[in-house]
Amino acid sequence: MKNNKSDNKKGGKSYIIVVGCGRLGANLATALSDVGENVVLIDKSAESFRKLSPSFGGITLVGDASEMTVLNNAGIAKATAVISLTNNDNTNIMVAQLAKKMFNINQVIARLYDPERECVYREFGIETICPAVLSMKEIDILLPSIPLGYLEQEGGEVNQKIAEK
Ligand code: AMP
Repeated sequence: MKNNKSDNKKGGKSYIIVVGCGRLGANLATALSDVGENVVLIDKSAESFRKLSPSFGGITLVGDASEMTVLNNAGIAKATAVISLTNNDNTNIMVAQLAKKMFNINQVIARLYDPERECVYREFGIETICPAVLSMKEIDILLPSIPLGYLEQEGGEVNQKIAEK
């Protein structure tokens, strides 16, 4: 585990594990760290941490987050929130389920590319974000002259609509 700054900010209220240091993961981890939260960021590739802003004051950990030892090393037992943002739905689901069921962590968020799965896991109490769903809603807003029908629908219906296309 690497502490990115010698003057690591203390006093954050939460201990947050972010999994996946792609664009989104790197931005989120930096934003959380900038507001004073304690952040541990996991990625299987050390190269990915190059995306981090110099202001990031959390901890980076190289490892495959689908391995229990890696999550233990990240301190999952004391985590207050786990946000899994890898590019692999199975990994994100696995991490989220472990965090929720084994460690009883309240705030668990998983990014899922597959809109059909997003609905299923939301029912299990795991907060999910699906880029395709969010994008369709945003495009619907940006094209007010063409009503696409994604805004009036419940989350599940939007997912189904996208999955069927
Ligand atoms: P992106 O698709 O740009 O959001 O990046 C996703 C990130 O997740 C990449 O940096 C991958 O190296 C990382 N990643 C993918 N699978 C795993 C895994 N099992 N454990 C940790 N990091 C992962």
